[in-house]
Amino acid sequence: MTPRKAVRKPAETTAKKSPAIRKKEAPRAEIGILGGTGLYEIEGIHNLEEVRLKTPWGDPSDEYILGALEGRKVAFLSRHGRGHRFSPSEINYRANVYGFKMLGVERLISVNSVGSLREEIRPRDIVFADQFIDKTKRDCTFFGGGCVAHISLAEPVCPQLSRHCHAAAVGLGLRSHLGATYVCMEGPAFSTRAESKMHQVWGGDLIGMTAATEAKLFREAEICYATMNLATDYDTWRLHEEGVTVGMIFENLRVNISKAKEIIRKAVAALPPHDETACSCRHVLAAAVVTAAKHVPAATRKKLALLVPEYRTGR
Ligand SMILES: [Zn+2]
Repeated sequence: MTPRKAVRKPAETTAKKSPAIRKKEAPRAEIGILGGTGLYEIEGIHNLEEVRLKTPWGDPSDEYILGALEGRKVAFLSRHGRGHRFSPSEINYRANVYGFKMLGVERLISVNSVGSLREEIRPRDIVFADQFIDKTKRDCTFFGGGCVAHISLAEPVCPQLSRHCHAAAVGLGLRSHLGATYVCMEGPAFSTRAESKMHQVWGGDLIGMTAATEAKLFREAEICYATMNLATDYDTWRLHEEGVTVGMIFENLRVNISKAKEIIRKAVAALPPHDETACSCRHVLAAAVVTAAKHVPAATRKKLALLVPEYRTGR
């Protein structure tokens, strides 16, 4: 592990610069890593730099850790904050995602802990979800305030990035599943048995509390997104089980986190150049914004300038 004393902490470098100005600078990171429960840092990142960002949506969960991992420029953020300070309902998702955009991140690997709703998805398995059922009522869009956008979510994750990460997991000899439906609930309590069985009837394969919100925002931000889900338990649907205990979940999580770090290192090292024909992630907003530009208030244009290129002129 890199000693904490080696970390440089520059001042709030972006506080006085607009997102538009930052966009013209060289990207500070190409690959983003969003860590979940148990994953608060990644070992092996060299030339560490911690950056605190201010965004139009407030403060991200923590400082972004920038550096080189396997020779690639990466940015790491702990979703819950180091020390696990924010519950799924308290996370400022928009600020977290926007911060990655400000840093120039084009592809993001997310790590999420989940419960399994299927016998064949065992605790300690890795699952790359590709569909979501969102039960939450959170802020999950950058739009509003006089600018309406309806993005397509038919394909809510990047198939290219998901396949690549899944292949990295398989290459390490791990049990990994490609494609699953993730039911996103508000939490923080886990499901009742009745709810868990209902989620199965809906077609859910996984239950979690964060990924659907982030999937929507990364898609609006036109960042390729893959979610690596770490199965910690069978949720509460198994009638012969005693149900979920926090102790059981965290023991499986501890094992899973080391797997996730291995997968990330392997996936990052081997990530090929982005193939524009393999996904639609970079063109999500092209047909999504329905409000005529002349009707979008100046303050909203300013907030969205990093996401919508034609708002950058400030006219
Ligand atoms: Zn993509």
